[in-house]
Amino acid sequence: MKKQINKIAITGGTHGNELTGVYLINKFTKNPDLVKRDSFKTIFMHTNLEAIKQCTRYIDKDLNRTFTKDGLNNPDLDTYEDILAKEINQKIGPKGSDNPNVDFIMDLHSTTSNMGLSICISTEDKLSWQVAAYVKECIPEIHIFSWKGDTGDTSFVSSIPPSGFTIEVGSIPQGVLRADMFFETEKIIQTILNFFELYNNEKLKKVYTEIEIYDNVKSVDFPRDKDGNIEAMVHPDLQENGYYKLKKGDPIFVTLDGEYICYSDLDGLYALFINEAAYYEKGVAMCLAEKKIISI
Ligand SMILES: [Zn+2]
Repeated sequence: MKKQINKIAITGGTHGNELTGVYLINKFTKNPDLVKRDSFKTIFMHTNLEAIKQCTRYIDKDLNRTFTKDGLNNPDLDTYEDILAKEINQKIGPKGSDNPNVDFIMDLHSTTSNMGLSICISTEDKLSWQVAAYVKECIPEIHIFSWKGDTGDTSFVSSIPPSGFTIEVGSIPQGVLRADMFFETEKIIQTILNFFELYNNEKLKKVYTEIEIYDNVKSVDFPRDKDGNIEAMVHPDLQENGYYKLKKGDPIFVTLDGEYICYSDLDGLYALFINEAAYYEKGVAMCLAEKKIISI
């Protein structure tokens, strides 16, 4: 018999300057009935309180890259976020446990990149993919981005319980609330909660067998000089066009002097997370993904 889902977590403020999630948690705190369902318990929380207070992405290090099993088990790692990650892991994990405190998590994020609504999914877990497929059916404009992350062992908040994923919406500047994206994100949350109410009551109409995804292939950094200074900007053709289908010869960067730098990789890859502010320090100007339909 399939496993009943007993507890779901909604987390916001993992990056303290991404206000959509921060204020949705504020809204649910004032009115918990909004996320209440009969067949499971919903908990919600701000994850990085100090970063929220300072309206910054993080204090010492990116909390959303801090949930590797090695890091969580290493007592010598003692930055603010390392300690915080261990506390969060006890609340909604522990990661890898057969009996975690939470069955499913949705971690709320926003991006400065104009890519609309996305689910970023990093797990092979079958239930997570069923949820993603259900959301895609209810909200067809959402994109499903499959990405294992940049640290090897998945280190996202969404990797703590056995099932879950990250919700990314944009474009939203850091430290800014945008009403349309706020309500779109709330709609995704409600859709996910609806899924689990149907799932627990065995009222889902079907099992999904396939889904269209954007499968991460690689990331592309800005052209930089030997000291690491950026020498070219994202080309205006790409700037506002998340999930842009690239072909050889498309201008993707423009130097400070106005010269174009053209794409020379595989035809047909899609560019996303284009010009995400938080990725300048990660050496990522955009991610490239392959669009495909996979079996789930
Ligand atoms: Zn984020």
